[in-house]
This record gives sequence, C-alpha cells and structure tokens, in this order.
Amino acid sequence: LAGRSFHPEPSRIRVGEVVIGGEDPVVIAGPCSVESREQILETARSVKKAGAGLLRGGAFKPRSSPYSFQGLGEEGLKLLAEAGEETGLPVISEVMDPENLDMVKEYVDVLQLGARNMQNFHLLKKVGRADKPVLLKRGLSATIEEWLMSAEYILNEGNPNVILCERGIRTFETHTRNTLDLSAVPVIKHLSHLPILVDPSHGTGKWRYVAPMSRAALAAGADGLMVEVHPDPESALSDGPQSLTLENFHSMMKELHQPAVGM
Ligand code: PEP
Ligand code: MN
Repeated sequence: LAGRSFHPEPSRIRVGEVVIGGEDPVVIAGPCSVESREQILETARSVKKAGAGLLRGGAFKPRSSPYSFQGLGEEGLKLLAEAGEETGLPVISEVMDPENLDMVKEYVDVLQLGARNMQNFHLLKKVGRADKPVLLKRGLSATIEEWLMSAEYILNEGNPNVILCERGIRTFETHTRNTLDLSAVPVIKHLSHLPILVDPSHGTGKWRYVAPMSRAALAAGADGLMVEVHPDPESALSDGPQSLTLENFHSMMKELHQPAVGM
C-alpha cells in the first residue's frame, strides 16, 4: 500500500490548512519537550511568526535513562493544545504506549510515532485504526525496507495518512548523534507515494549543523522538516544541545526562502 505501483501520484496529507506533500515544504517546529506554559507559548508564537506550519512538543518522552525528565504527560498535552489554539498552529506529539492513544488523540492533530517504537507492531496497528495522520519516524537502525513495512502496518489498518520522517541512523560516527541519511529522501520518493520529512535535530544532535542539513534535506527533495526550537536551549529539560534558539530558527527560515546560488 505504501508503494508507487499501488498509488502512482504522491500522497498529500492535509492537517488543518497545511498540506504535507504538496507544493511547498512544511516546517514542524517546537521544543523537544513541553516544559511549561510560558515555554510552549513563547515558542509557538515565535515559530509561527517565522513561518512554521505545525507546532511540536513532547509530553511522553522516550528517554534512554529512567532518571531523565520523562515529560509532563497529559498536562503537557493540554499546554501544547492551548498553544496551538492560540497561534492557530496544528500540533503534533508522540504517543509511546497503545494505552495512551485515546488520550493523546484528544489533544493533537498529528500522532508522532518515535524511532524507538517504529517496530512496536501493536502500536502501529492501533494508530492505523485512528482517525488522525501519523508521523512515522525511522528506527535507529532500521533499513528503508523495514521502515516502509512499518508504514504498511498502519496503512493496512485503514489509515492512509502516513508521513515518514528520516531522523538519522546509528553508524560508527560519533561526532554527530546519528548519521542523517539524506539518501533516504530520493529512495523513498522512488519507492513510495508517502510524503517524507527530515529531522536534522535528532539527525545531527548539534544545533550548529541543523541549518545546513535542513538546506540539504530540501535540496534532496524532502517535503519538509521537523526542527527542535527552544527559547533557552541551555536550560532545556531534553535535547538542549540540538535545539535552535528562537533567533536561530528565524534566521534559518529566512535562509531557506532564498533561492540556491545559480538558480
Ligand atoms: C523527538 O522527536 O523528540 C524524539 C524523541 O525523536 P526520535 O523518536 O526520532 O528519537
Ligand atoms: Mn528530542
């Protein structure tokens, strides 16, 4: 169902007034985690002004250590929904556990399935029966074939609105947190009709590489980006080192609107 032979035309996924997979790239921006009302509202207003199409914010966080901040849970979703309403931005947040799906669904416009859950088949089937678009992140060491098979689980349950998101894979390189596999973009475009976004924040782990890899992702044909933005990255409760400040996000968005040299 994810294949081009089944569906030759690229899929366009509508979220409110935003179309993912349409003519214009869509940028999803916001903090790794929702931390407070002030933090999410300030970020939402700022990224909206800069041209973001959707607001992100984690409430249930898949942290490597059980002692790290785990997210605000339902309270975080309420704050995210409030910031979305105030700014008019549709919102996206991760659902980690099939048990929480019905609750998360009440607050978000798009369900995010994280890299660590790409092969949680029970969760894939359950979001496949949900009436919300799903952003499916590539697993930490998943091949493109495995990733598309996970999309297949969702599509096969009847939900046609799957958005893929390349977020870097594990390699021997340690300078960056992951290795952003931009070749996945043309490969997915060749194999599938599903839209593909790129997350250069998790893909590199360092804010200074986010803007160049965002430009590269769009040049490779990505349908948009997912970028972590925080008003004060140094005090962020998760993923501060890879988060852009509000100012840096604004400059990046301006740059992305400039045509490439020679065009
Ligand atoms: C995130 O988007 O904050 C996140 C946890 O991403 P990933 O699942 O790609 O690690
Ligand atoms: Mn994060």
